[in-house]
Amino acid sequence: MRIAVLAVQGAFAEHEKILDMLGIEHFEIRRKSDLEQYFDGLILPGGESTTMGKLLHDFDIFDTLKEKIENGLPVFGTCAGMILLAKNLTNDDTRHFATMDINVRRNAYGRQLGSFETVSSFGDISDVPMVFIRAPYIESVGENVKVLSTVDGNIVAAQQGNQLVTSFHPELSDYTEIHRYFIEKIIKQNV
Ligand code: GLN
Repeated sequence: MRIAVLAVQGAFAEHEKILDMLGIEHFEIRRKSDLEQYFDGLILPGGESTTMGKLLHDFDIFDTLKEKIENGLPVFGTCAGMILLAKNLTNDDTRHFATMDINVRRNAYGRQLGSFETVSSFGDISDVPMVFIRAPYIESVGENVKVLSTVDGNIVAAQQGNQLVTSFHPELSDYTEIHRYFIEKIIKQNV
């Protein structure tokens, strides 16, 4: 089991820490040559989606990653990572990988509530600590998308086949269960 963590910008080190806690081998994707390595899954971290999108093109890694995701590579996007995967952004004309059938609102909580923490459930898992930082949420999903978590009526976690997204940052709570879900349920497909 080997996981690639996109490390062009944002909170990638925190994801690596969680993977270390789970004893999962990982490496960083920073340039095109990194894509020659074998990996079973990909993590797209939080950060700034516009910057990440631009760097993916500048470093010529966008097309290869998009193709791998379209061909079924398991991918877990948190926050900005969710924005990278969304087919549609409801308040922004930009599109990135656009592989997941979700309509996402960027900075959905506005400035007043830029960052907050709460506890909610995720699928069968209860009491999940959720840290939101200038977070997006999902306004609506396509019919192949499974909603895994809502907070105040807004969708904050979802899955479509090989793609998992969260508005919140499990990696900032030192919380391993969402990454474990990604590894067990999506990569190993132990349903
Ligand atoms: N607001 C950021 C964006 O739109 C996402 C914030 C985050 O990843 N913590 O890209």
